[in-house]
Amino acid sequence: MFDQRFGTRAIHAGQRPDPTTGAIMTPVYLTSTFVQNSPGVVKDGYDYARSKNPTRAALEANLAALEGGRFGLCFSSGLGAMDCVLHQLREGDHIVLSDDVYGGSFRLVDKVYRHHGIACTRVDMTDLGQVKAAFRPETRLVWLETPSNPMLKVIDIKAVRGLVDEFAATITPSGATDATLGPLGTPLQRPLLVVDNTFASPYLQSPLSLGADIVLHSCTKYIGGHSDLVAGALITRDEPLAERLRYVQNAVGAVPGALDCFLMLRSTKTLHVRMQRHCENALRIARWLEVHPKIERVIYPGLPSHPQHELARRQMCGGFGGMISCVVKGGLEASRAVLERVHLFSLAESLGGVESLIEHPAIMTHASLPADARRTLGIDDGLIRLSVGIEDVEDLIGDLEKALG
Ligand SMILES: *Cc1c(COP(=O)(O)O)cnc(C)c1O
Repeated sequence: MFDQRFGTRAIHAGQRPDPTTGAIMTPVYLTSTFVQNSPGVVKDGYDYARSKNPTRAALEANLAALEGGRFGLCFSSGLGAMDCVLHQLREGDHIVLSDDVYGGSFRLVDKVYRHHGIACTRVDMTDLGQVKAAFRPETRLVWLETPSNPMLKVIDIKAVRGLVDEFAATITPSGATDATLGPLGTPLQRPLLVVDNTFASPYLQSPLSLGADIVLHSCTKYIGGHSDLVAGALITRDEPLAERLRYVQNAVGAVPGALDCFLMLRSTKTLHVRMQRHCENALRIARWLEVHPKIERVIYPGLPSHPQHELARRQMCGGFGGMISCVVKGGLEASRAVLERVHLFSLAESLGGVESLIEHPAIMTHASLPADARRTLGIDDGLIRLSVGIEDVEDLIGDLEKALG
């Protein structure tokens, strides 16, 4: 399967005509249970749909192929997927997290898992020295998001992998194995590197080939692509790790329903085509905004003015994504006016759908961050974030032109 190119994998991987009827599309298996011929004798591992469902299995194989991984696992949300990874840790473990991760990801680590005795250090991972300085003997997880949200910082995945390996060589894995705990009874022997690939999508960036142990997606965004579902996924190449993740996926039970899996399978078939248009449109709009007199600064990895533009060119292929952040001159009042005057862009949180969205991070998506943390990250009151859709770009530019007045 891996010798096929992305668009071919997107349409075919994990799927074959239904063996009973020849239906070309994977059926939606709306069933909670599967009949057994003799107690405990089950067909292809299908006994109960939390554990395994054929529509979900097709989607999991499809996503694994798109990320160049061997194992895919789907969840009922992106945070449900993250929770599955965090459950691999135990009390006393430590996480190094990139500083402007998705707010909900930070909340899960900083509120829920801190409550369970797991510590975390946030660093600006565009500065590798900060990553190195954050490691502790108990560090067992390094978590990064690139491009980040909303500052679109680009982090060098390969370089962070190098630092994690150097650090791993200096630690002695500790903690006794407790076989009564099943797969979780063995402590993690080395720190895991997890990359949240939601903003880039598997079409633009392949973290597993750059050294990530696990890739995470909020499928709610580009993978779903039509703003009609909430879901998440993990992909890995590491079989023992996949077994641990699979164990928690089933034990905790945050799995998506078959209808949502069907919608995602339909969506991944057009992922490459959608991403091409998202990237084309966003690049045109970013260039247009950059010379607009009412705009102070545009942040887009595809612009030479972006601080990590050269890294983005190496690390992402085929484009720089559909997300743009920019600072409107005149602070809160001016940016609020723009957000109230747009017609085609919808004022809403979330991203990655075919329709264009616009939002105000300081008031909306990143309001839960303390004001000084927002300031340190550069999320000021004039900052707006655009999720550029796949409409005709001239109409999108026309809408922004009017709104900027
Ligand atoms: C939305 C998002 C998440 C959380 O995913 P949900 O599907 O909303 O649970 C995680 N990471 C990033 C980068 C996101 O944009």
